[in-house]
Formats: sequence, C-alpha cells, structure tokens
Amino acid sequence: MSEHDPAGLIDRLKQIVGPMGFREGTDIESKNFQDLMGARAVPPRLLLRPESTEQVSEILKACHAAGQPVAPQGGMTGLVSAAAPLDGEISLSFERMKKVEEIDRFTSTMTVEAGVELQTIQEQAEAHELLFPLDMGARGSCTIGGNLSTNAGGNRVIRYGMARDLVISVEAVLADGTIINGLHKLRKNNTGYDLKQLFIGSEGTLGLITRAVLKLSPKPSSQAVALCGVKDFDSVANLLVHTQTSLGSNLSAFEVLWVNTYKLIKEYVPHVTVPISDKYAFYVLIESMGSNAQRDKELFVDAFGQAADSALVEEVVIADSDTKVNNLWAVRDAAAEVIGAGFMHAYDVSLNIDDMGYFGEEVERRLREVWPDTVIGLFGHIGDGNVHILINIGPDTKDHHLDIDEIIYGLIQELNGAISAEHGIGLMKRQFLSYSKSDSEIALMKALKNTMDPDGILNPGRIF
Ligand code: ZN
Repeated sequence: MSEHDPAGLIDRLKQIVGPMGFREGTDIESKNFQDLMGARAVPPRLLLRPESTEQVSEILKACHAAGQPVAPQGGMTGLVSAAAPLDGEISLSFERMKKVEEIDRFTSTMTVEAGVELQTIQEQAEAHELLFPLDMGARGSCTIGGNLSTNAGGNRVIRYGMARDLVISVEAVLADGTIINGLHKLRKNNTGYDLKQLFIGSEGTLGLITRAVLKLSPKPSSQAVALCGVKDFDSVANLLVHTQTSLGSNLSAFEVLWVNTYKLIKEYVPHVTVPISDKYAFYVLIESMGSNAQRDKELFVDAFGQAADSALVEEVVIADSDTKVNNLWAVRDAAAEVIGAGFMHAYDVSLNIDDMGYFGEEVERRLREVWPDTVIGLFGHIGDGNVHILINIGPDTKDHHLDIDEIIYGLIQELNGAISAEHGIGLMKRQFLSYSKSDSEIALMKALKNTMDPDGILNPGRIF
C-alpha cells in the first residue's frame, strides 16, 4: 500500500485485472487520454484494461466502495469530450474486450463485446452476406461500446436508424458492480421496461455496456448514387419527399452540402474533385440500395428524370461505377476535412426540415453581426433533420467558442430544435442542455442518475 493510495484501492484494482490489465504513469499512451477534440489531455490516475464483464464488475465494486470516479472509454473518437479523463479519474478502456462471440444467421444477430471496432463488425457481417448499417468516418477506431453509449448516428440513419435502433439487447454493469445481464436475441420482447435504453445514449453515466446483441440486415446487392445541384431549400425539401416516395425503402442516404461548404471543399480539399460547378445554392447526394440491380437502376434514373422535369433539380450526375460512387461520396465526406483549415469542430444540431432554410441564413446573419468576416459552411444528414456547421470567425475563432455556442444554440432553442443531434452532450454542451430539455425532463434525468449511481462515480460532470 503506497502513500498515494491510502485505502489500497490502486493495489486492489491492479490485482483484479492482473499485470496485462493496467497501465500507469508514463506507460499510458496519449490515445488513452486525448480524445478527438483534443481540448484537454490529462493522463488518468490509472488506466484499467479489463478482459471480462466480471473484471469490470469487480473494478466498479471497488471504485464504488472507495468513491473513486471512473471515466469509461472506447476509441476516443467522440466529439463532445465525454471520455477524456478529468483530474483524479481512473480510465477504463474496453480495448481488451474485442471478441465477436457469435453471428446467428437465423435471427440475423451478432453478439459482441464492447471493445470491438465498428469496422470489424461491418466486415464480419459482410462475410456472412449481412449488413451492420451503422457507419461513420471513425469506423476504423471507434468501438461498438462507444457507438451505443453515445447513440451514434452517421450517414444511413434515414433508412436504418441510429445506434439505438440497431441493437436488440445489452449486458451492462452498474456503478456498484451489479451485472445487468439483459442479453437475448428476441426482436419482440415487451416484458416491462426496456432497460437497455438506460445505457444507450447516456454517455457512460448510468452504467457501462459490456456486451451487446446487434441487429443485422440483409446485405443490399445494388447501390446507386447521384449528386444534384438544387436552386433553393424549398426544392431540397421537396426533393426529399419526392425521393422518399419514388425510391421507397431503397433510399439509404440524403446528404446535403450548402454552397458555402461546397466552395470550402473546392478551396481547402484539393484532392477531391467536385463534379458540378458551384453556381447552385445546394448540392444533394442521394443514395439508393436494393436487392435487384436492374430494377433499382431503372427506378433511380426514373426518379431523377421526374425530378428534373418538375424542376426540383437543376443538374444531376449519376455514378455508374464503383469508382464514381466513391468519388461522389468523397465530395460529401470532404466537408469534415475542411476543419483543418482554421474552422471550429463541426456543430451538430437538429431541426424541423421546414425551418432549415431559414436557419442557414439566420445563423450566418447573427454571426456576421458580431464578427463581420465570419465564414460558415453548412452540411449534414438533411433527410434526418441533422445539420453540421463549420465556422471561422477569424484568427481567434477558438477563443470565442462560448459566444459562438450561445448564438447557435440560442437560435436552435427559438426553433425548438436539439443542440445535439448525434454527438451527445459530454462536457462541451452541458451548460446548454436546458436549451433543448425542459426542467422536468432534466429533473427526471438527475433522479435516474441518483438512483443508478448515487455516489456519482460514473463519468461525473458529463451531460450535467
Ligand atoms: Zn454527422
């Protein structure tokens, strides 16, 4: 028992996980304490790397008894600084819990441990002619435990839903070490409260997800992608309705770049070639996935013929090869690459579609009122009402982030939108939580937190 560990907690934790199961001091790599936002990088007191649910349970039992705060982590790719440890916290990484336990062809499910990377899950599903549709840029490093605890979104939510919609059941460990083994493969199960929802999207504040049964879909055999130039937001909204009607369940992405983002891509992401001139107000990427290549292609081409006839689109490029499909997606994905050029992290908000055209103009007007040289770029998963915003108000953009937050979230509050669509709250948005949640909702959230984690050891200070 060392003098820095009067209660013997650190020794006890090391004993639980064994020599391979922890790192301390300078042996802790920055990937285990620096998250993607990079705002704060404080090494944890100790990094724990358990290899089983039982070890997670023993760890939390000991930390609960000692009142020791714990910061759980997946791939550290979150965008609201929820997983980077705060002073004095112990980090708990799932990097040694990465078994794919079972793929069941008849229930179309996959049972996994929390530390499996998203890309591994996608590849395993594909090898069985199945699809795990959750997808985002961080697929190679983010983990399913992180995806579930943040209820991650991404590009195909319009068809398949968010992480919450892609999971049948979870196993989780409560703050006091109690294991809640809720694993099952039943798509229909109305036996009382759906407890898994407490752990999904709660950012590690109510319990730690250790295993999950994921819902797989049939693997589509056809893919078609188009990029369209559109004259105004009304036409974008009508094009959404048109493609939902004409493509039906084949519609798998409806992504929009405002022209301001399109121009930023041209300027700052030289390795991407934009296929249409920048004279339109909006650029819409539409994807269809289906199971009959010939019929799906005809349906797709017809849909754009009708869209052109009714003046919903001014110009269309349809990809007719895998390379061209990838090139069109590269244009959409390049929006995230603009950030390197002095822009703030992309804001993540959601709104009703019919407020979105106004929002795009008004947010720029309000920012320019304060900082006349402001440059913004809007883009996002508009089929889901989710918009991201790139912002550069000048050389000291980052110093003014709270003032920028206030302007954006204030407008979102006026429009009854959500200050987070898919990134979560973490540390970065917690002071604005009341802009999108009522007092009674926040009171119920706090009551749940107090019931499930009375001493506040799980990811304290995140969300509220
Ligand atoms: Zn997004």
